[in-house]
Amino acid sequence: MWIGLVGLLACSVPLAAALPDRDVPAQPVPSTPMMMAIPEEPVLIPRTIEVTGEDGGAIIDWRESVPDGTPNGGRLTGAVRLPASGTGYYTYDPRTQSEPGGLETRWGTARLVREIVELGRWWAKANPGAGPLGIGDLSRRQGGRIDGHSSHQNGLDVDIRLPRRDRARGAANPANYDRALTQQVVDRLIAQGADLVLIGPSLDLRGPAGVVVRWPNHDDHLHVRFPG
Ligand SMILES: [Zn+2]
Repeated sequence: MWIGLVGLLACSVPLAAALPDRDVPAQPVPSTPMMMAIPEEPVLIPRTIEVTGEDGGAIIDWRESVPDGTPNGGRLTGAVRLPASGTGYYTYDPRTQSEPGGLETRWGTARLVREIVELGRWWAKANPGAGPLGIGDLSRRQGGRIDGHSSHQNGLDVDIRLPRRDRARGAANPANYDRALTQQVVDRLIAQGADLVLIGPSLDLRGPAGVVVRWPNHDDHLHVRFPG
């Protein structure tokens, strides 16, 4: 027994000696900045990337959009920006009637932007010789008041120029618009689910009552609203 106990003690001494001293690090501490952890920069990854336009140059950063309030007094979160141009459409600034539309006023809900892109694709296919459709203001990135409009405040509204008989890209009016082509646009918008299309009192256009509505100051464009 004594032999066994001595043997056990003998064995325990080197084991105790091998226990790490808490004051001495077991591993060398990195001392150079190169060995320190570098914080990662946040990486913004679009949920979906879609390439539009014949040249494939436009990227849409799709995200979940939430229209708040009403078009005449609202806000927008998760806005999606419509590219300045794409298949079958271009954008313009209604304040100057020049191209392209402003960076600050091309924001809408994902639904609205998707419908405009879809409208352009349909238009380019249906009327290849007619030139692209002119798209005016949508909303601001976070919604709210926008110059020249009482609505367009929560990402649901867009203005569309009337196609002209001379196929030119420019301001339209009751004298130079192409009635048949514009009616095609109205019909298509309704088929895509638009729940409001305002038309000027001097335009000869038709549509379901309560959806296609005559409204002052809309003789040079269609004001279109999609559900949120
Ligand atoms: Zn409008």
